[in-house]
Amino acid sequence: MDQALTPAETEALLARDRAHAWHPYASMFSPPPAYPVVAARGVRLTLADGRELIDGMASWWAAIHGYNHPVLNEAMRAQLDRMAHVMFGGITHPAAAELCELLAGIVPGKLPHVFLSDSGSVSVEVGIKMALQYHLSQGRHTRKRLMSLRGGYHGDTFMAMSVCDPVTGMHHLFSGALPSQVFAPRPEAAFGATEDDVRLAADIAGFEEMLSAHAHELAAVILEPVVQGAGGMHFYSPAFLTAVRRLCDEHDVLLIADEIATGFGRTGKLFACEHAGIAPDILCLGKALTGGYMSLAATLASERVSRGICEGEAGVLMHGPTFMGNPLACAVALASIRLLLSQPWQRKVHALECGLREGLAPARGLSGVRDVRVLGAIGVIEMEAPVAMARIQRLLVDQGVWIRPFGRLVYTMPPFIMQPDDLAALTRGIVDAVRTLHTGETQ
Ligand code: PMP
Repeated sequence: MDQALTPAETEALLARDRAHAWHPYASMFSPPPAYPVVAARGVRLTLADGRELIDGMASWWAAIHGYNHPVLNEAMRAQLDRMAHVMFGGITHPAAAELCELLAGIVPGKLPHVFLSDSGSVSVEVGIKMALQYHLSQGRHTRKRLMSLRGGYHGDTFMAMSVCDPVTGMHHLFSGALPSQVFAPRPEAAFGATEDDVRLAADIAGFEEMLSAHAHELAAVILEPVVQGAGGMHFYSPAFLTAVRRLCDEHDVLLIADEIATGFGRTGKLFACEHAGIAPDILCLGKALTGGYMSLAATLASERVSRGICEGEAGVLMHGPTFMGNPLACAVALASIRLLLSQPWQRKVHALECGLREGLAPARGLSGVRDVRVLGAIGVIEMEAPVAMARIQRLLVDQGVWIRPFGRLVYTMPPFIMQPDDLAALTRGIVDAVRTLHTGETQ
């Protein structure tokens, strides 16, 4: 194991990390343990002591092709030899232009205009700015608020935070600093709900009531289509989304679809909007866009939106990040999307869906488990109460698997390349960790 570190080297790395590196949602003074990873290949992460973990996280939904993929490595290397970066103001380059064209060609509906940025949160900021600028340019100065769904998550920057779930998001903490937005109830009709499900009618009625009460002040509705991710791993009925599209049109409110987590096949469709057969006015993409290699995001707009903005007072979209259109990121995004589309990816995601259903089923009925649900390559065990993070993480690592639960949710989104035996080992490890957490027993 050539990358393995000695125990002394590992301790030095961890000491440096504890002293200086601030981890996500973590304290600098009582930091949770960080596992030192020295290499990653395929679906395996290698720890400093040489142990290998089966990766069930795809690095927060991103690494759909697994790690260290020869095609993606080569795309990065080839681009690096040409140029790592060049500004996008007044300059263009092949990787960005080709990527924008490719994205416009594969997304639902007609969204021909693509704004590249660095992260999902920023693409949400840009999408919201587009919506506001669009209405301003029509002289509708009251249309400055957003409506979103309870249970949603859209990022950690301030405007994005303002449209996250008002209870589990950070509204209380930052009250007074966040713009006040409008929240429709979380849709309760499940993914497979039939048209006559009474919850579906109630979901649509609840949404319509909020929308019609606030339409005069709304620039847009923003939501995660079909799967609410970090806000609760909740799968809702595509029929609700179809109704949202119709109602937004009726009230002349734009629809922003945040497909940062769901885009590029994760739910079984290339984009989750396709489950409902709808297209948004503005679409946010990130995460799997580069196959998890680089930080890159995109906000796509319909011609109606972009024309509205460009014919308005400013005449331009008022945004321009330093690293927008970074060539390395664009080159690997192009390679990742082409790689995905060149394969029978639907079959792979479907096989993962079947494997997750079978593998996670034994969790049903375990003490402390409230629900087990699967959609596409997303598997969720929802617990009755929040899990003890450090403890379950240690149990999972002891089982040889890597996932990162949060709150009551123990969930996995494996890389699409995962083979059946690894998937079986992953789900077995997850179920065993959940069982041990609650009973102290292993099997
Ligand atoms: N929207 C959704 C639906 C997300 O899942 C995330 C990230 N979890 C974001 C926005 C924010 O993306 P980023 O972390 O890249 O800023």
